[in-house]
Amino acid sequence: MKTVAEYFGSQVFDDREMRSRLSAKVYASLKKTIDEGASLDANVANAVAEAMKEWALSKGATHFTHWFQPLTGITAEKHDSFISPSPDGGVIMEFSGKELIKGEPDASSFPSGGLRATFEARGYTAWDPTSYAFIKGKTLCIPTAFCSYGGHALDKKTPLLRSMEALNRQALRILRLFGNDTAKCVRSSVGPEQEYFLITKEMYDARPDLRSTGRTLFGAKPSKGQEMDDHYFGVIKPRVAAYMEELNEELWKLGIMAKTEHNEVAPAQHELAPIYSTTNVATDHNQLTMEIMQKVAAKHGLVCLLHEKPFAGVNGSGKHNNWSIATDSGQNLLSPGDTPYENAQFLLFLCAVIKAVDDYQDLLRISVATAGNDHRLGANEAPPAVVSMFLGDELNAVLEAIETDKPYLGAEKTQMKLGVDVLPKFNRDTTDRNRTSPFAFTGNKFEFRMLGSSNSIACANIMLNSAVAESLKIYADRLEGAKDFEGELHEMIKQTIKDHKRIIFNGNGYDDAWIKEATEERGLTNYRTTPDCMPHLLDKKNVDMLTSHGVFSVEELNSRCEIMLENYCKTVVIEANTMVDMAKTMIAPAVFRCAADVARDVSAIGAVDGSATCGVAKKLSSRLASLAETIYERVDALEAAVIDLHGADGVIAESAQIRDTVLTKMCELRVACDEAETLTARSYWPFPTYGDILFSVK
Ligand code: ADP
Ligand code: MG
Repeated sequence: MKTVAEYFGSQVFDDREMRSRLSAKVYASLKKTIDEGASLDANVANAVAEAMKEWALSKGATHFTHWFQPLTGITAEKHDSFISPSPDGGVIMEFSGKELIKGEPDASSFPSGGLRATFEARGYTAWDPTSYAFIKGKTLCIPTAFCSYGGHALDKKTPLLRSMEALNRQALRILRLFGNDTAKCVRSSVGPEQEYFLITKEMYDARPDLRSTGRTLFGAKPSKGQEMDDHYFGVIKPRVAAYMEELNEELWKLGIMAKTEHNEVAPAQHELAPIYSTTNVATDHNQLTMEIMQKVAAKHGLVCLLHEKPFAGVNGSGKHNNWSIATDSGQNLLSPGDTPYENAQFLLFLCAVIKAVDDYQDLLRISVATAGNDHRLGANEAPPAVVSMFLGDELNAVLEAIETDKPYLGAEKTQMKLGVDVLPKFNRDTTDRNRTSPFAFTGNKFEFRMLGSSNSIACANIMLNSAVAESLKIYADRLEGAKDFEGELHEMIKQTIKDHKRIIFNGNGYDDAWIKEATEERGLTNYRTTPDCMPHLLDKKNVDMLTSHGVFSVEELNSRCEIMLENYCKTVVIEANTMVDMAKTMIAPAVFRCAADVARDVSAIGAVDGSATCGVAKKLSSRLASLAETIYERVDALEAAVIDLHGADGVIAESAQIRDTVLTKMCELRVACDEAETLTARSYWPFPTYGDILFSVK
């Protein structure tokens, strides 16, 4: 048997393969493209394609595909085989540099939000050499960006790469000001912690709601849920352990550094965390991870649910986006340093993030907005929809000392003067791990916790990178022109703390009092739903910032706003239709049947034994009959609300109408059905209950 070290990355055309299969010259030229974004000439591309093909064939691959991330939220691929006819009637396996660099999938069926008129059906995909090609099944997958012929981004990778470039540009300016002449580039890194549920295939198949929408639309609270908290970090069941083992192997072969796995709070809920990597690669890897999680589950007779809220009343699933920025030599710019000089630089980067999160709270909220995540944010388990930051006691004390010109009573009890000579050394504060903060500093990185489990991490990181680039730009503009660097630096940091300390909150983010304080006293935004926040993507300050860094064009922003809202509307309408269908054809008939049978039994017993009144049973039967009536009425009301959507003027209005009427009607229908579930004898109930599903994996 091969050891992990032997098979790790075996399905990846990684640096080891490139180095051994390419000539020194071609390798050097490709490296320059990867590390510095230099353009690649045709000869080099041909040589790389040839080597890549030979490697892929040696692994049994027959096809290649440009692998990309359209705005559907999942990945897309169109397979072409390597075969090409040879004069003797046979075939040869071919793959050119041109095919490596550019592909032309028919783009007309991918969402474009009006960017690509239908006559311009073709988009093109362009190789992203910074993310390694890999083999999935028998196909060589080449990570690519996806654009329209007009050059507009139709995917998530393109703006992500642009945002990384923006951050790189501005961060380098700051580093130069601090005398760093050696850093070649600055990149953000991400380690996404991924939560998910595992249930059996039988349970999944028996629930039309899970099959069509990924979440349960009905379900009374089980008698045992997560009250005991006995699942969190509990012993992993053998079937789950077998799943995790195979999952790890598959991920490791793809060079994905799956590292940590454990049970989560809810029954059947688990988490997988990889070791962090460059944001762009982490994003590709997270997409792949989600795909492989589902594939491996199927092999084990299981289904992996990635929905944010598969079960009401039970913790939902999120994704923690651990984010930091580092130089190419590995210096983490969010790590407090050993010397005062490094600490001044650290504080500046820290302030850049504080300012970014406060100035662009709305963009961060928007970046995680989906119909699914709306069920999670603000429920008592996930961070609220209000964005705030947690820094920990020690950093807080440092910032307070700077703001008020008071001595810092930390380890060394010295006056905080940001001048480079006197700033004391402070320790990393990792003691208080606030779990309720949407955006927490955890020693040398920030953990952004608002992402939903099924979200691509691209969106959050696009906004984060761009917003921080903007803060750094403002700082760099000021510092580059400053006569007294240290004085200006001190003033700027002080000013940032003064202006933006409202975003810092170290208390319990789940507390209702906090939401009141946040919105009423601090003026923070609280966009509870996707329709509430999404239109703000087009607010002038956001458009100005994102376009000025070249992350999005105005057209791209318009199209994204439209696509995200369209996704929201489609998602909820599918849910509404599924509810109508299940209530009409499964739930109401079962409830009626049960009511009728109970009534029949009551009269049968009465006929035999004239003295029996069966009062409770009579009540039950009439309650069930009345619930069945209510269910039919509420089905009608929900159907009417969906039909009413046709009258909405545009997607913003439609999404608001969904929020205000369709979702309310869905809730009302569910309440009646869930009550009926608790009263209907189990043998009548038409599908597995929460108790069945949540404890299905033994
Ligand atoms: P936890 O939040 O469970 O205590 P860790 O602190 O070990 O976990 O890290 C969680 C995630 O953060 C992991 O994916 C880890 O690789 C990632 N991580 C650690 N350091 C960094 C960093 N400097 N930048 C980005 N992610 C990081
Ligand atoms: Mg975490």
